[in-house]
Amino acid sequence: MPMFNLSGMSNESKEKNYDVVIVGAGPGGLSSAIYTARAKLKTLVLEKAIEGGQINLTNMVEDYPGFVSISGEELADKFVEHAREFGVSFANEEAMEMDLSGDVKKIKTDFGNEYTAKVVIMDTGSNPRKLGVPGEDEFANHGVSYCAVCDGSFFKDKPVVVIGGGDSAIEEGIYLSKISSKVSVIHRRDKLRAQKIVQERAFKIPNMNFFWNSVVTEIGGGNSVEYVLLKDVKSGKITKHSTSGAFIYVGLVPNSKLVENAVETDDHGFIITDEHMETKVKGVYAVGDVRKTVLRQVVTAAADGAIAAVDLTKYFD
Ligand code: NAP
Repeated sequence: MPMFNLSGMSNESKEKNYDVVIVGAGPGGLSSAIYTARAKLKTLVLEKAIEGGQINLTNMVEDYPGFVSISGEELADKFVEHAREFGVSFANEEAMEMDLSGDVKKIKTDFGNEYTAKVVIMDTGSNPRKLGVPGEDEFANHGVSYCAVCDGSFFKDKPVVVIGGGDSAIEEGIYLSKISSKVSVIHRRDKLRAQKIVQERAFKIPNMNFFWNSVVTEIGGGNSVEYVLLKDVKSGKITKHSTSGAFIYVGLVPNSKLVENAVETDDHGFIITDEHMETKVKGVYAVGDVRKTVLRQVVTAAADGAIAAVDLTKYFD
């Protein structure tokens, strides 16, 4: 995924000891940061890529209260601006090693800095799940993409397929329909998982069509993607479908490797917390997409962040 460290800068301040270090600047982490800073806790947010996280890669957000429609990038900017306004420190650094066992947690980064904090909040988010078919890796950046906002413009007036039936697939498919000549959604069932309002919108788009009960078994071509092989899961029949691009939205993989031996995770790697967002390790919290939860939205990530931030004040009484 094309995530860039835009500023390439290490910690803005020389300070290494904090009350709270938040790993990841998604809506969950930034929401926590706003609350902890307002509680006068010295707060550092570490972000290896873009402050604001994955919403930067979302075309439009239409379900965050207060904004009928706002670009993901603009909403991310507003979260960051809000946190800065209350004195949160930021560092464009990647947490590489963490010692979470004691009362003082230690976090080493790729800039060689070691930070300490009484409380750590993990907001490390998730990455797109791979489909795992032949051609997927071979054609990465040559027609295979996981980010319509990043790569959509390469497919102006060309046909593309979108694989998946969740919110990401359908919302990004709608975005692509304005650029591409045709968007074919390939879904393994006969019903979409995406929100109904998004489905209704998609069904009305003339250059969007749907291949139900179908899976992609191969992505093929020459120098770039030229076709996908589609298998009808009911009949087993395989057909060749010409396309210039394959946008894959088949779910998320949590970024929890850094702490998988320290905290409890589920079978998929999502971090398990209690209702206060605290993990089994005292003083270690998880918020947003990386957490095992029933709903992954900007609003739920922000709510996770607020709950964690209020709960963690117990360590500073
Ligand atoms: P998702 O909700 O997990 O949907 C993944 C889709 O891919 C499902 O339709 C699934 O099919 C399909 N799929 C999974 N594995 C597959 C495979 N191996 N082959 C073919 N198809 C496969 O993932 P997402 O759409 O990325 O969304 C992730 C989370 O973010 C969700 O909680 C979602 O609500 C949230 N989100 C929210 C918004 C928003 O609120 N605006 C926008 C984007 C994402 P089945 O349906 O058959 O399982």
